[in-house]
Amino acid sequence: MYSMLYDENVQHALITHADCLKHEMGAHHPERPERLSAIEDQLIASGVGQHLTRYEAPLATDEQLARVHPLEYVHAIREVAPRAGTVHLDPDTAMNQHSLQAALRAAGAAVLAVDLVLEEKAKSAFCAVRPPGHHACRARPMGFCIFNNVAVAARHAIEAHGLERVAIVDFDVHHGNGTEDIFEHDEHVVMASIFQHPFYPYSGTDNPAPNMHNVPLAAGAGSKELQSAVTKTWLPALEEFKPELVLFSAGFDAHTEDDMAMLRFNDADYAWVTEQIKSIAERHAKGRMVSMLEGGYSLSALGRSAMRHIKVMAGLEK
Ligand SMILES: [Zn+2]
Repeated sequence: MYSMLYDENVQHALITHADCLKHEMGAHHPERPERLSAIEDQLIASGVGQHLTRYEAPLATDEQLARVHPLEYVHAIREVAPRAGTVHLDPDTAMNQHSLQAALRAAGAAVLAVDLVLEEKAKSAFCAVRPPGHHACRARPMGFCIFNNVAVAARHAIEAHGLERVAIVDFDVHHGNGTEDIFEHDEHVVMASIFQHPFYPYSGTDNPAPNMHNVPLAAGAGSKELQSAVTKTWLPALEEFKPELVLFSAGFDAHTEDDMAMLRFNDADYAWVTEQIKSIAERHAKGRMVSMLEGGYSLSALGRSAMRHIKVMAGLEK
């Protein structure tokens, strides 16, 4: 049924690892293992999953992490990781005995995804991993995040593959303050983001660097405001930048069913925004896209929205 749109010769990758299901931050924490199961369930139910080539996420190396975080920070995370029980890194972010492995797999997925698309083994890659990454600053864990996975992907593309221009598109409901901390004024990276404002982490609006294309949205904003932000701000900036690779910080917590915040996106919005960015990737980046899972806490909305995002990336839906 997808024959007009889908080329069976082009691989689209799904990267994940069982270790990412073992990281838990305490009872009732919204960033929970069931999030990944919800995405898997929707990929199976929709039939999209059968078109994806599956890979196990490798462990990121200290060298790969140290392109983003000071090596002292990487060592400190390794040292604080508990053998039993739970250690809190900030009020929202904790580690159990499996969290270090999960965090290394999440960042390792980013590296593998970039390798696959830049070596033309896959056209796109979605990393169904946790912990998420976009709040992790250079030397500070924050907001459920330990290592900044999308930043590890960008730096790997630039330093290991020699790319000059990488775009990061962040549609999580929260501002990707960690990613901005790492890349502000970096000539190789442009970031396009929307986020609810004023809202956690209360950043992104105070005189952002010229390579940061941030669009704050008021509580209650929905499809119309998203479309305006993308067409008026993101697309012109990305057209001018001509990225050689497009990375998504794919958070699905701006969905109207998600209680974490107060934006009102729907499933179709995630397909639409992916289609817009895909057109940029096809014009400038040979269609190369890597997507890292960030937030999304309503299990049903997360599963459905992530499936629609992946479906568009893989050319199974226009
Ligand atoms: Zn979020």
